[in-house]
Amino acid sequence: MSHGLLRAVQRYSHTLALLETSGSKVTPSSLSALTAAKEIKKPITALLLGPDAASAAPSVAELEGIEKVLVQSDERYEHYLPEQVAPLVVSLIKGENDKVKDVSSFVVAASAMGKGVIPRAAAVLDVQPISDVIKVIDPNTFVRPTYAGNAILTVKTADKIVMTSVRGSAFPATEEKSASAAPIEEIAPIDADCKTTWVSEQLMKSDKPDLSSAKIVVSGGRALKDKEHFDSLLNPLATKLGAAIGASRAAVDDGYCDNSLQVGQTGKIIAPDLYIAIGISGAIQHLAGMKDSKVIVAINKDEESPIFKIADVGLVGDLFTIVPELTEKL
Ligand SMILES: Cc1cc2nc3c(=O)[nH]c(=O)nc-3n(C[C@H](O)[C@H](O)[C@H](O)COP(=O)(O)OP(=O)(O)OC[C@H]3O[C@@H](n4cnc5c(N)ncnc54)[C@H](O)[C@@H]3O)c2cc1C
Repeated sequence: MSHGLLRAVQRYSHTLALLETSGSKVTPSSLSALTAAKEIKKPITALLLGPDAASAAPSVAELEGIEKVLVQSDERYEHYLPEQVAPLVVSLIKGENDKVKDVSSFVVAASAMGKGVIPRAAAVLDVQPISDVIKVIDPNTFVRPTYAGNAILTVKTADKIVMTSVRGSAFPATEEKSASAAPIEEIAPIDADCKTTWVSEQLMKSDKPDLSSAKIVVSGGRALKDKEHFDSLLNPLATKLGAAIGASRAAVDDGYCDNSLQVGQTGKIIAPDLYIAIGISGAIQHLAGMKDSKVIVAINKDEESPIFKIADVGLVGDLFTIVPELTEKL
């Protein structure tokens, strides 16, 4: 294809961005995915699903880079079951709905929802999804971590449909408004052959900020010894700092806290402004979830502990003395 023709194809092709909502707001990780979508430099059609979609649509329509907002409010999409969402995404990408044509890029946050939807949709479309994107180089070239963040891969795809999931911590959230609001259009649901039903959910109630988007995180490891010490030492410090609480996998496995608090390769991947690692050794799998934090403070009694290799501020000493003292001084 000549360069001129390629540019023309890119100009007339679109990005479909599936944005997750919570209440009437788009989630922070989806707003970060939208920033990545803008870097693909094609007009963006935003897709909002579920009963909250209509109330979230006006604020999305005002965001810079959005050309159109598609809304489907049916209850079947309420919990983003991938078996329901993926067929709708596939149908839109295939151009079966005349509200959006020529989709050549699909973007979603690498959240639980995105991770469920993207492989299913990509398999049906017979394309290779590119997951956990941390940088957009051009519409076909992306940077992503591999081997638990130990290597960084630059991937160039020749697929006609480029499907990407975006790591929220790598992009700022889109906040800029455009001069005029994009149109909002209702689309029809798809009757998917879905054998999965939503039964219930048990959410941990917390007065603390959400771990995935908190600016400050106080995180505890195995050294806290048990749940009582985990709670009694970390809660007052987190409250003083307005911080979310995180944990190492060892702390989760030993029952100190809920597994939704786990930070790392098999937990949440976060990049707060301040991460305080307390009694955490800094195993590679833990670092994979927090090493992009802006400032890292480590409290550990072993000065050889690997966490000190990435810490900006290190306190060598017994956490059972240091943490109460720090909380008191704050
Ligand atoms: C496939 C796979 C995936 C994994 N995914 C994750 C993941 O997502 N997240 C994760 O965290 N881990 C993960 N792990 C586990 C990881 O390898 C480590 O085992 C784990 O992170 C260790 O947790 P820790 O640092 O709390 O415990 P430890 O390694 O036991 O470290 C405790 C630290 O506390 C210090 N300490 C002890 N007493 C005190 C004291 N009184 N005061 C101050 N410091 C003290 C010690 O010096 C030590 O450095 C994974 C492992 C595998 C194999």
